[in-house]
Amino acid sequence: MGCMTAMELARRGHRVTVVERNQIAAQTSGESSWAGAGIVFPLLPWFYKDEVNQLALAGASLYPEICRQLYRETGIDPECIKSGMLIQPPFDRAMALTWCAEHHVSIEQKADGLLLPEVAQVRNPRLLQALKQWLIQHDVTLIEHTQLAPINEIQLEKTGQINAWRANTGELLEADQFVVTSGAWSFELLKETSLKLNIKPMRGQILLFQLPAQTLQNIIYRDGFYLVPRSDGHLLAGSTLEDVGFDTGTTEAMKQEMQAKAEAIMPSLKHAPIIKHWSGLRPGTPDNVPTIAAHPTIKNLYLNTGHFRYGVTMAPASAQLVAALMMGETPQMAAAAYACGA
Ligand SMILES: Cc1cc2nc3c(=O)[nH]c(=O)nc-3n(C[C@H](O)[C@H](O)[C@H](O)COP(=O)(O)OP(=O)(O)OC[C@H]3O[C@@H](n4cnc5c(N)ncnc54)[C@H](O)[C@@H]3O)c2cc1C
Repeated sequence: MGCMTAMELARRGHRVTVVERNQIAAQTSGESSWAGAGIVFPLLPWFYKDEVNQLALAGASLYPEICRQLYRETGIDPECIKSGMLIQPPFDRAMALTWCAEHHVSIEQKADGLLLPEVAQVRNPRLLQALKQWLIQHDVTLIEHTQLAPINEIQLEKTGQINAWRANTGELLEADQFVVTSGAWSFELLKETSLKLNIKPMRGQILLFQLPAQTLQNIIYRDGFYLVPRSDGHLLAGSTLEDVGFDTGTTEAMKQEMQAKAEAIMPSLKHAPIIKHWSGLRPGTPDNVPTIAAHPTIKNLYLNTGHFRYGVTMAPASAQLVAALMMGETPQMAAAAYACGA
C-alpha cells in the first residue's frame, strides 16, 4: 500500500518519501504484501459488501496497465497473468451467476465448477521489486530500517497538524502531508491519537510446491482453499486465516492440513517437493473494509490501511482514492464507506 500510494503521488508530481522499518520488497517479519498469493480478485465476491467489491474490481482493472508500465520502465516483470479462477464445489451457483451478471464479470459453467476467466494473478515479490525500482527511478526517497514511533498528541501543533514524525533513530521526518500505510501495525502507530483503529493482525500461511513445469492452467479455489500456479512450475497452496496476534511463525499442523487439501485438489502434488512455507500478517478489519480517509482530528494525516484479505487487489484503486482525498479532489468512487469509523 505504501509503494502504490507513493507511485500514485509521484505520478502526480509530488515529492514523496516512504519510511519502512525493515526492507521494502523483502520478507523479514510478517509483511503481508510479500507473503500474499497475488490473486487479483476477491475469492467469492458475492459474499462481500459492495464497498469491498467496488475497490477490488477497480484495483483489478488497473493491474494489467500498471504491470505493463512497471515491466517497461524497470525491466522487472510482476507477471500479471490472466490465468482465470476455477471455483470448485461446494458453491451457490445461482448466487454466483447473478452476481457476475450484475457486475459484468465473465463466468463460464464447466463440468468441474465455475470459471471466472478474467481473474488475474501477480507475483508478489516481483511486483514489490518492480515498484521499489520504479520509485527509485522517479526520485522517491526510500528510508529503510527506520521505524516510526507512535504518534502522540504532544507532537501536534495548536493548529491540529503534524509537521514532523519521530523515528526510532530520534530523527524527525518532516512533510506537508502524511499517509499511514503500515498494514497490521497501523493500530500501534495511531493508538495514542483520538482515532482507535479496528485493525488486528490475521496470520496467513502458504506452502510453495516446485513442479517441473506449469501443470494447472487456472487458479483453483475450493472450500476456502486455493492453488495458484506460477508460469515456471512453482505452485502456491494456501492459505490459513489465524488470529494469533503478531506471531509470524509457521506451524507443522497447518503445513499438514494445507498439504492434505492441496493433494485432494491435485493428487499429483503428493510427489512434488515443498520448497518453502511462510506466513504473513494481514491487516484484519471487520468485513474486509479498509480505512482510506483523512484522520478525523489531525488535518494533514491520512490513512490507507486495513485491506485485510484483498490489499494487493485493492492497492492501485486505494492509492488513487487516498491521493484524490489528499489533493482535495472529488474522488471517482463513493468514498464514505472507507471513512474513519465508518
Ligand atoms: C497468506 C496471505 C495471502 C494473501 N493473498 C492475497 C491475494 O491473493 N490477493 C490479495 O489481494 N491480497 C492477498 N493478501 C492480503 C494482502 O497481502 C494484504 O491485504 C496487503 O498486502 C496489505 O498491504 P499493506 O501494505 O497494508 O501491509 P504490509 O504489506 O504488511 O505493509 C505494511 C508495512 O508497514 C511497515 N511498518 C509497520 N509499522 C511500521 C512503523 N512503525 N514504521 C515503519 N514501517 C512500519 C511493515 O514493516 C510493512 O512493510 C494475502 C495476505 C496473506 C498474508
